[in-house]
Amino acid sequence: MEHADSARVIRSATKEFPAPLVVRLLRFVRVPYRRRLPWSRAGVLERDRRRCGYCGGRADSIDHILPTSRGGDPRSWLNTVAACVPCNQAKANHTPDEAGMQLRIEPFEPKVQRALVLALGVTQAESLPPWLAASLA
Ligand SMILES: [Zn+2]
Repeated sequence: MEHADSARVIRSATKEFPAPLVVRLLRFVRVPYRRRLPWSRAGVLERDRRRCGYCGGRADSIDHILPTSRGGDPRSWLNTVAACVPCNQAKANHTPDEAGMQLRIEPFEPKVQRALVLALGVTQAESLPPWLAASLA
């Protein structure tokens, strides 16, 4: 092992090694990182806090704002909202305007960080460590 600087050492709990000049990577573990969050039904329900985008009641289904049968994107964050079954059935194969229904919310694409919050099983960013909460702002 070549040493760049014998003053630099790497310490473990019980051992001490001179810091190497070159570190050879034997195995590379790729950690997937996505800048955009893939669409999912569960994600839409979480994003909308399980509230129906039309009446505000408890939502158990996903409504495609522009129905897929009419060219609406089936897996778009912007074309989907959480909906209760009665609203979803009432809207059926129509746009909200045609069905005389008004969206209470504006659909948006959640940030990847938001997914992290959900994955950690917390409901409020405030319950996260400050350094993580700050990255969600
Ligand atoms: Zn509803």
